[in-house]
Amino acid sequence: MSITTLARPEILAMRPYSSARSEAPDLGVLLNANEAPWSLLGDAGWEGRLNRYPEPQPGRLVAGLARLYDVPEDSVLVTRGSDEGIDLLTRVFCRAGQDAILHCPPTFGMYRIAAQTQGAAVVAVTRDANQAFRLDEQRLFDTLDSDARIRLVFLTSPNNPTGDVIESGMLKRLLHRCRDRALVVLDEAYAEFCSRPSAAALVGSHANLVVLRTLSKAWAAAGLRCGAVLAQPAVIDLLRRVIAPYPLPSPVIALALRVLQPDMLERQQDLLQRIADNKQRLLDVARSRPFISEVIAGEANFILLRTERAAELLSFCAGRNVILRGFPGEPLLRDYLRISVGSADDIEALAAAFDEWENRE
Ligand SMILES: *Cc1c(COP(=O)(O)O)cnc(C)c1O
Repeated sequence: MSITTLARPEILAMRPYSSARSEAPDLGVLLNANEAPWSLLGDAGWEGRLNRYPEPQPGRLVAGLARLYDVPEDSVLVTRGSDEGIDLLTRVFCRAGQDAILHCPPTFGMYRIAAQTQGAAVVAVTRDANQAFRLDEQRLFDTLDSDARIRLVFLTSPNNPTGDVIESGMLKRLLHRCRDRALVVLDEAYAEFCSRPSAAALVGSHANLVVLRTLSKAWAAAGLRCGAVLAQPAVIDLLRRVIAPYPLPSPVIALALRVLQPDMLERQQDLLQRIADNKQRLLDVARSRPFISEVIAGEANFILLRTERAAELLSFCAGRNVILRGFPGEPLLRDYLRISVGSADDIEALAAAFDEWENRE
């Protein structure tokens, strides 16, 4: 059975939009896209080409990301951040009012938003706070078996905000369980912060696996809005039917190519090392505080704290210009705060705020 049979029939039947730039290369006398004949910004670099629509899937960027994640180029779709990948997957594979996604809260909020926007049901396999929010594989499988509507299973490794990872054995069992009936979407937004191998290596052998990567976190480029969907070409082709014709602006393409230059790898390794060091310091600041009952270290660039008066502590820190993440709308996380690993100075500012909170009145 081919993965395309899981897609919405309307998407399969649709004749995809064909943009001027996708029909003809960006060469010659270009009179096919109603563009202006020159740019107002001059004639050097991408600025001089600002009058032209960018490539729909910029070849060099696709090649760079394929190299970075070690997959074939036809297994890469470049997107406006992983957020766009999540949205495209949901629109292609979930029929409104009929299909469902499965997610495992507490987790990243965009899976639910994308599903609700599309009119898909949201099935939750909730993690247990008393088990440090570990995923219950058996409950996940039981839920899958009992609900035929599920088309997309969203997992996050390391998970946001709990920091735990999906073991590769479990992922393989899940892929097998979902074969011919659902896609497994593994969101690896934080993969570079942990030492485990990426599931990108499994894309070639598993038609129902999708891996999401991003330059937003470990490549220090959240402002770029550049992410990648990694999957077999059949899935990539389906997503290309619904993605905007020119998702990536020329300045973003130019900057993303710079971020992926070989000499950046060294800077990135240095960033990762310093974040690892700062995380140790952050854990020291958080541990041994009487007002913190649990510290979940996780394997990403943030930690999760349990504290009885989370909302008050959040605004106390904000009053001292230290902004943490609370979860007022998420009952499972009412007593928790997430703290990103910042610079050494950021962590000292947090430590000062914690000292003040501890010694108040
Ligand atoms: C931050 C984050 C993303 C966001 O990725 P963008 O590429 O910036 O859209 C995706 N998934 C998870 C789990 C995240 O925490």
